[in-house]
Amino acid sequence: MAADSARMPVAVASCPLTPAPWTTQAIVAGAGRYLTPSYKNCPIVFARGDGPWNIAQDGTRYLDFSAGVAVNGLGHNHPDLVAAIAAQAGRLIHQSNYWHNEHAVPLAAELCQRFEAAVLACSATQVQARAFFCNSGGEGTEAAVKLVRRYHSRVRNQPRPGIVTVKGSFHGRTYAAMSATAQPKYQDGFEPLVPGFRYAEFGNLASIEAQLDETVGAVLIEVVQGEGGVCLPPAGFFRQLRQLCTERGVLLGLDEVQTGLGRTGTLFAFEQEGIAPDLIWLAKALGGGIPVGAVVVQDHVAQALQPGTHATTFGGNALVTYVGRVVLGVIDRDGLVAQAAHMGAYLLSQLRSVLAGCERVRDIRGRGLMCGVQLTGDVAAVIAQCRHHGLLVSLAGSDVVRLTPPLIVDAGHIDFSVTQLARALSDLQG
Ligand SMILES: *Cc1c(COP(=O)(O)O)cnc(C)c1O
Repeated sequence: MAADSARMPVAVASCPLTPAPWTTQAIVAGAGRYLTPSYKNCPIVFARGDGPWNIAQDGTRYLDFSAGVAVNGLGHNHPDLVAAIAAQAGRLIHQSNYWHNEHAVPLAAELCQRFEAAVLACSATQVQARAFFCNSGGEGTEAAVKLVRRYHSRVRNQPRPGIVTVKGSFHGRTYAAMSATAQPKYQDGFEPLVPGFRYAEFGNLASIEAQLDETVGAVLIEVVQGEGGVCLPPAGFFRQLRQLCTERGVLLGLDEVQTGLGRTGTLFAFEQEGIAPDLIWLAKALGGGIPVGAVVVQDHVAQALQPGTHATTFGGNALVTYVGRVVLGVIDRDGLVAQAAHMGAYLLSQLRSVLAGCERVRDIRGRGLMCGVQLTGDVAAVIAQCRHHGLLVSLAGSDVVRLTPPLIVDAGHIDFSVTQLARALSDLQG
């Protein structure tokens, strides 16, 4: 890890109109006064990033195994990402979708070709795909919902507005995304929801089948549930689901917002399930922190979105799509998908061996660099204690410590994280 501290900081031009700095104390107090009380922030102000490390205003370094909830796949302030943002900002940031820019189509081509290749390799199915750019995961879900409904009503000329999602899912906070998110805590007080959603059980084919009839047009589902608690699908579940959907004329859409782009040890998580989804959507890691999302959808389904049917002002602008191309380029050049698989296996085995005797541990599971440690007792206290020991992790579900480190971590970072988590658990033992 010595190499981390020796990393050269990236030179960044300073802004001539530099706003006055606020102290940590003023920011924490100001949040209580000026922000909607939407987030339960902890009183740390991050000022800098350095690879997998985050540095607070007071200089404290934290190893970031949350990675902005799986957004910072390349870690913080990756030199290529910083250079890409600066370079493209100096050329062109934004123009509307009335015209082309130099990067949206090339990024769409890259995503579609990777999707097509992944589908071919894992399920021996030849498909052609198209992409729609949006700005977030929730907007990806919105686009997916609109797309599958309009496909049935206008391409197939037989409306099938029903959509099946599963309990414990998370698809975002906008209205259709929240309605798709089958967890009461996210919907409470926001009724009426968008109509047409039906909920089944994750990993339970019979419960999904029970919700299907001729009014249902799609099943939308995560491959590994992230916010729900790092829940893995049973072996063979997705193959059976694919077959069921095909037989019933139902589209299968996979929310790969959290699992996508190497996180689970393959570029897309569906590759490990051996299926051809009709559509997937990506966001979190695609921009490395710059907001960009994409729906990647098989061509015949994509025909639902004719001119004027769906759009977003910022979608696919020159800056974000250039950054997306660079993120994919770094993932390729540095072999980060293979590294995620390799380091993920190491993380899981270290968690299992180091936490073996710990009474509070109920389960340890994961796929690639997406791991969960399910605990008894107060999980928030464990996460706070990890922070005290310089490790950032996040809560998933009600009782899972989730580890989603950047894809660039090495064995030293993993050893540090497991040691600090074990320390936090033993601190809270007595
Ligand atoms: C984070 C997440 C979303 C929502 O993304 P936003 O960018 O917050 O709108 C949707 N689906 C999954 C699986 C996610 O993990």
